[in-house]
Amino acid sequence: MTDNPDTADSQPPMWSRRAVVVLSGGLDSTVALAEYLERGYLIQALSIDYGQRHAQAELRAAYAVAAHYGVRHAVADLSELGPLLGRSALTAHHGTGAVDVPDGHYADESMRATVVPNRNAILASVAVGFAVAARADVVVLGVHAGDHPIYPDCRPEFLTALNTLVKVANDGFAPPVVDAPFLTFDKAAIVARGVALGVPLELTWSCYRGGSVHCGTCGTCVERAEAFTVAGHRDPTRYAAPANTDTLAIDATGEAVCSR
Ligand SMILES: [Zn+2]
Repeated sequence: MTDNPDTADSQPPMWSRRAVVVLSGGLDSTVALAEYLERGYLIQALSIDYGQRHAQAELRAAYAVAAHYGVRHAVADLSELGPLLGRSALTAHHGTGAVDVPDGHYADESMRATVVPNRNAILASVAVGFAVAARADVVVLGVHAGDHPIYPDCRPEFLTALNTLVKVANDGFAPPVVDAPFLTFDKAAIVARGVALGVPLELTWSCYRGGSVHCGTCGTCVERAEAFTVAGHRDPTRYAAPANTDTLAIDATGEAVCSR
């Protein structure tokens, strides 16, 4: 279990608590930012360009979200890192060795092509360094339960191990707690929480292909559309092609569920 920043004895008073939110510009991190604003934290958003295919679309969204909330926003440019991270569909997108983003459902085995080696440990390490320097109390990640099957660096044991590392690596320098407030949420629950918090979800970006509108057929587009459907909220996203949510079915309780 991660320390709960709201109950830990050593935490400063609420009015002075600071959180560094790793803001990709996606739905999850944007709602996480709103969640920590709601909890009364001073927010410093941090976006990281690690050479991902959809970096420009993500950064546009992150700028828009940060501007909407009037929070400070920094961008770390690690774009030269991308080519060193092998043949992930997210980072191998130039030249003859390019790997296409697969179409299909987010939970499909084919989505393994989108795994970037050690990605969240890299991003979190940058954010933790920033947070220690900025004397922030918490680093906030937007990872959630829907990520767990494919992405090992989105699972609870990753977060637990990361917090142990952060304490050891920053001993004596007020190490922040790394929190993932939606670690046990599915995507639909995040949509619902975002709607409840009044988050401008239309500003957020999910598509792994980048561009000016969501493609509607890659795993993250399908997952996004599905989440709005399950949550019962209108999807404000513009898709180039209708997102395929045919994999949804209605179970005996009347709940929409994914059939894969
Ligand atoms: Zn897409």
